[in-house]
Parts: sequence; C-alpha cells; structure tokens
Amino acid sequence: MTTDADARRAELAANLEAVRDRITRALEQAGREDEPHLVVVTKFFPASDVDLLVDLGVTDIGENRDQEASAKAAEVADRARVMLHFIGQLQSNKAASVARYADVVQSLDRPKVVTALDRGAQEAGRVLDVTLQVSLDDATGRGGVAPGEARALADLVAGTDALRLRGVMAVAPLGSDPRPAFARLREVSDAVRRDHPDATWVSAGMSGDLEEAVAEGATHLRVGSAILGSRQSHR
Ligand SMILES: *Cc1c(COP(=O)(O)O)cnc(C)c1O
Repeated sequence: MTTDADARRAELAANLEAVRDRITRALEQAGREDEPHLVVVTKFFPASDVDLLVDLGVTDIGENRDQEASAKAAEVADRARVMLHFIGQLQSNKAASVARYADVVQSLDRPKVVTALDRGAQEAGRVLDVTLQVSLDDATGRGGVAPGEARALADLVAGTDALRLRGVMAVAPLGSDPRPAFARLREVSDAVRRDHPDATWVSAGMSGDLEEAVAEGATHLRVGSAILGSRQSHR
C-alpha cells in the first residue's frame, strides 16, 4: 500500500536528484570540483517534510521566519542531524529567540542585530555561525548591508564573543541578470576574506539561479521550490 508519506518521499527524492544533477552540471561547466553545500529551504512546509528530507540525506535546512522556524525546530524528529540556517530578515527583538534554535544565521546585516544576536547566543550558551547578508541592488526593503560597509560589519562580528564569522550571503536582485550580481558578491567576499581569512562561505543561488551562483563560486546554495514544490499552493 502506498501512503501519502511514501508519495511525498518519492516526490522529494526525485526533486532532490534533479537539483543535485543541476549542481553537478553547473560544477562541470565552471570547471569546479568542490561541491557546494545544499541548504534546503523548507519555509511554508511542515516538519514532516523536514523529516523526509533528513532521511533522504539532507543535512542543512533554511527557514526565514522566527515563529515558524522555532516551532519546526521543536517538531523535527532528528534535530541533532540537521543544521538549521536562519535566512530571513532579522529584527533585533527576535534575535534572542533565533539564537536559541538556529545553528547558522545567514542574514546579519546591521550592527544592532549583531549586538542583539551575540547577547542572545551568550544567554543561550551557544556559539552561532553567521554570514553577512550583502545587498546587491539599490532597492531597499530586501535587507542586506551595502557592499562598501561589509568589511566594517565583518570586523564588528569578529569582535563578538558568541558569533563566528563564516562569510557572506546574498539574494540576486529581481528582474536582472544574476551573474553580475553574484560576481559582485564574490568581490565583497574577497574583500572580507582579506581581513578574515576563515570567512570563506559564499551563500548565493536559489531555485532559479543556482547555475549562475555556482559559476561565481558559491559555497552554499539555498534551494526551496525546486525541491519542495510551489509555496503558493501550501499557504
Ligand atoms: C525562500 C528563500 C530561498 C529559496 O528560494 P526558492 O526560489 O524557493 O529556491 C532562498 N533564499 C532566501 C533568503 C529565501 O527567503
């Protein structure tokens, strides 16, 4: 007998394989041999999907809203086997909450949030891996530090007790070629690494533009809909 869970597992497995094939082809095209980390973005989808993904070998998941992420972190069956990346806009009043369950915070973009997250992590007795979210367009509202301010923010993070600076992250601007945007992110990454050689992560690339991100040296891809399906139908 085929249950709904079996059907969903098969669907996720097929989608994961298709995404892994895309990554493999992109690596070949780019002449790269180092495999990027795949962070599967599970926002809007239930903890049961996370359980299936973990079973299928996924080690990293991404969430973008505190309330949903914290509930899901508590619900996931094998929490210790999965790294939870917080990738959404972070307000300083949510930082203490996020510090309790996230393993990685990718979306640090303001001094005030750095301070709040550091304090939250210390209170929780934890050390968090973080990346700086860099703004690659002039439009406001999507978050991110301006490229020219990234090095100063990196210094601030490096001076905290409970945050470990791992690198940079960005979302490509809407409606324009992602490749030059990701090239820009790579330049910011180079600049940050001059002062902080261990900050090697470059998180870029989503369902629609992972090939361009791989071509520009992404070490982490954040892929949601290509694996879980359209979020629209699940709202
Ligand atoms: C939702 C989200 C993703 C995943 O987007 P898809 O297009 O579904 O792959 C990646 N990064 C961030 C910051 C997101 O909010």
